Amino acid sequence: MKIRPKVGVVSCSGECCSLGTLSRVATRLILEGVRPETVTLCLPLFLAGDSGEREFAQRFPTIPVDGCHKQCAKKAIEKYSGPTAADVDVEALLEEWDEKAPEDRRVLGEADVELAERVAAEIAKRIDWVQGGQDA
Ligand code: SF4
Repeated sequence: MKIRPKVGVVSCSGECCSLGTLSRVATRLILEGVRPETVTLCLPLFLAGDSGEREFAQRFPTIPVDGCHKQCAKKAIEKYSGPTAADVDVEALLEEWDEKAPEDRRVLGEADVELAERVAAEIAKRIDWVQGGQDA
């Protein structure tokens, strides 16, 4: 049986805009169904200096899921724990798909939830790639 490495996904806090809402919802979809064996790190706790969160990101492959090009989660992980295994920039994905960000950052409509599911599928591709499965 092939042993697949544990992977951590880290959403940016994303309270500033609806792109951040998409990153958080897509990450929850991963944890609650798409790839339930995946674990997450709490970015605010990580930034506050928690040694357990930072050590995890040093020892295990970690994938930041950022709402926009500022890539706060990726930069934080790379600053305090080292290189990330792969990353997701939701704003870049929306540009690639020619899709607009949700209008509301608190309430997602049906189309927005579908967009979050597409983002979750992209996260899943990267998890598979990191674990040595299909191409990302
Ligand atoms: S990456 Fe963008 S959306 Fe996420 S917390 Fe930073 S500024 Fe906000």
